Amino acid sequence: MSEKIYCGRGTAARGDPVSTDSETRRYPLYQLYFYLTDECNLACRHCWIAPKYQNATKATSFLPIDLFVSIIREAQPLGLMTVKLTGGEPLLHPQFAEMVDIVKREGLKLVLETNGTLMASEIAEAIASCKNTFVSVSLDGTDATTHEWVRGVPGSYDTACAGVRHLADAGLRPQVIMTVMRRNRDQIGEMVRLAEWLGAGSVKFNLLQPTSRGKQMHHSGEALEIRELIALGQWVERDLAPTTTLNLIYDHPPAFRPLSRMFGDHGDGCSVCGIFSILGVLSDGSYALCGIGESLSEMIFGHARTDRLVDIWEHTPMLGEIRGGLPEKLEGVCGRCLMKGRCLGSCLAQNYYRSGDLWEPYWFCEEAERAGIFPETRKVGRGAGAEEHLGTLVSEPPS
Ligand code: SF4
Ligand code: SF4
Repeated sequence: MSEKIYCGRGTAARGDPVSTDSETRRYPLYQLYFYLTDECNLACRHCWIAPKYQNATKATSFLPIDLFVSIIREAQPLGLMTVKLTGGEPLLHPQFAEMVDIVKREGLKLVLETNGTLMASEIAEAIASCKNTFVSVSLDGTDATTHEWVRGVPGSYDTACAGVRHLADAGLRPQVIMTVMRRNRDQIGEMVRLAEWLGAGSVKFNLLQPTSRGKQMHHSGEALEIRELIALGQWVERDLAPTTTLNLIYDHPPAFRPLSRMFGDHGDGCSVCGIFSILGVLSDGSYALCGIGESLSEMIFGHARTDRLVDIWEHTPMLGEIRGGLPEKLEGVCGRCLMKGRCLGSCLAQNYYRSGDLWEPYWFCEEAERAGIFPETRKVGRGAGAEEHLGTLVSEPPS
C-alpha cells in the first residue's frame, strides 16, 4: 500500500505540479517503492503482503539489479528523489549492499523498511553513509514471547533488537514500528522505554489493518475495538508523548487528532499518503500502485522490461482516475470529512482491497461513524473544534 508520509505544517498533500510543456505531466514521481523480494524470513500474523516464508538468509526470487538501475535512471527525469527498499524482507536480496551503494551514488534519499533480523553492523554503516537515510524496524512486543507470537519465528526478538542497536551504533536514529493489537496493547509504554534504550529516534504505532493476514486477526478478536483504538491514541498523544524525547506517532486518521497537535506553532503536521507521487516496483519488475499489486492484479500497470516508465506514470488509466478523483470522489464518511483534502481517505489501496471500489471510505472512520463516535465537528458543515468532542471519549492508559 502506498505508505503515509508525515506532512509538516503548511505542506500541500498533493505533489506540486512539474513545470512542463506537456499537459499530461502534472505529477512528479518523487518516490519509488521497491519490493525487492516476495519472500520473508518471518511469518507475521498481521502481514498485509503475506510473502512466502523461507527459512534462509538469501531470497531465491528477487528484483534483478539491472532492472533496479534502469528504473532509477528512467525515474530521475520524472522527479525521483527517494528510493524505498522494502519487501518481503529487503535484506534477503543477495545484492542488497550493491543497491544501497547505487542509491548513495545517485544522491537519492534512502528509506528502508526491515524486520531488522538480518541487520549486521557493516550493512548498517553502509546504510548510514547514504544521504538523508530513514530506517524503520518492526518490533511488536517488548519481550520475546509477545514479539515472536506475532512474528512467527523463534529468536527473531533478539535479532531484531540487535538490528536496531546496529543502526543506532552506525549513527542513525531508526524508527521502531509497533502494530497495536490485543496481545501487545499493555506493552505500549514499555515499547517507548525499549526504543529509547536501543537508540531509536521515534516510535510509530500502526493500526492492525483488516487486509490479507490481518483480516483473520480482526475476525478472531485479536484486533482492538474502535473505541479502544481511539482511547489508546488519545492516551499516547496526551499522556505518553510528554514522558519521552522520542517522537511518537499513533497512526489514527487526522479526524481523531486535536487540531492543536497538527497545526499552529506547536503542531507536528498530519500523516498524508504520498499516493500522487509514488509508484511501486514489485520483485518481478512489475509496476504497481504499491505493494497491493502483490495481491490484486488490477493494481499492476506494466513491466519494466517491456514498458517505458514515463508511459506508465503518465498514461495508466487507474492513475489518471485516482489523480482526477481524489479527494472529491471519496464516499461515505470520508466524503463528508473536513480533513479529506489532506488525509485523502487514509489509504486508497486499503480501501480498494476491502471493496474493489476506489472511493470506499477508510474502515477505521467508517466503524467510528457506525459507533456514533466520529467527531461531528470534523464533518463538512459542522465547523472546526473537535477537541471538545474528542475529550468526551475516555482516555485510559493500558492496564
Ligand atoms: S517481516 Fe514484514 S514482510 Fe515479513 S512477514 Fe512480517 S510484516 Fe510481512
Ligand atoms: S474520514 Fe476519511 S478523510 Fe476523514 S480522517 Fe477519516 S480516513 Fe481521513
